[in-house]
This record gives sequence, structure tokens and C-alpha cells, in this order.
Amino acid sequence: MEDLEDLVGECDNCHQAIRYAHLISHPDWGFITVGSQCAENLTSEYGLSEREEEAKKLAQRYKRYLNSPKWKHRKNGYFMDFDDYYIKIWDNEDYCKLEIVLPLWNRQTLEHRYEKICSKQKYATLDDAKTQAFKVITDGSLIKYCERHYTNDTPHKPVSGGYDNYD
Ligand SMILES: [Zn+2]
Repeated sequence: MEDLEDLVGECDNCHQAIRYAHLISHPDWGFITVGSQCAENLTSEYGLSEREEEAKKLAQRYKRYLNSPKWKHRKNGYFMDFDDYYIKIWDNEDYCKLEIVLPLWNRQTLEHRYEKICSKQKYATLDDAKTQAFKVITDGSLIKYCERHYTNDTPHKPVSGGYDNYD
């Protein structure tokens, strides 16, 4: 749970202003931020309470991530290594653009390459872009996107075979 200090956040479920943001891993919607009441309703409705610990850890990780000293800032760009991914955010004053670079391996040859995924979305703030990057990486939707669009490649690092020869 993240204290937003004032009623600055918005619930992804009912769109009301919220003070305490709960991060919930929802089976259909993925990773969402909701207020206390919706958190309670949704967790009981979908039996998500067993995921509470997981959601708490994710919320803490999200908080650390947003303000991490690992963010590098050059000109209008913000960059960070996150898991196996490289996040790039371009601050164009009026809006931010998001790019994520990720490793792919050819299914046949296991050849390793990097692909840059660019979001078409314009984000109002730097934190919005950071949040979106965190969401798509941690809820698995980036992996799913790659599996749909790069059918000759896999985003999963090969564990056996001739991988060492191609690194
Ligand atoms: Zn709500």
C-alpha cells in the first residue's frame, strides 16, 4: 500500500480519487492500482486475498523502482536496467514516450539479439511512463506481446543447447 499523501491518485476500478493506493494483481486486468474499498471488494470477489503477500511485495518493489537511484538521466532521457530489460523514457516536455529494449533468442539458432519495443502512447508525466513500464514487465504482458509479434524468437533465455556459443 502506498500513501499518496493527498487525494492525488485515481482508482483503476471506480475512477474515484484515492488516498491509499493498493496494488492488486487481477486475473483479467493484470496489475491495477485501486482504493481501499475496491481493494477489499475485489480481493473478496475474486478470492485474491491469498495473493496479498505477493501484491505487497510488488507494491514495495514499485515504490523502490519509481525513485530508484538506478535511473540515469541524460538530456531529456531517463534510463534504467530492470530485470532483463532496459527502460528508456523520453521527456518531450508536454508528454513522455516509453521504449523498452529486451533480449530475444531465435528459436532455431538460439541467436541472441535485442529488440526495441516503442509504446505509441503519450504519457502525461514521467511517473506515468515509469508506471506503465513497471506494469507491462511485472504482469507479463510485455512477454506476451513478444510471443505474439516475434514468432521466430523467444523472450525466454534458452537454458540448454549451444547457448554459450552464441553469447
Ligand atoms: Zn475504487
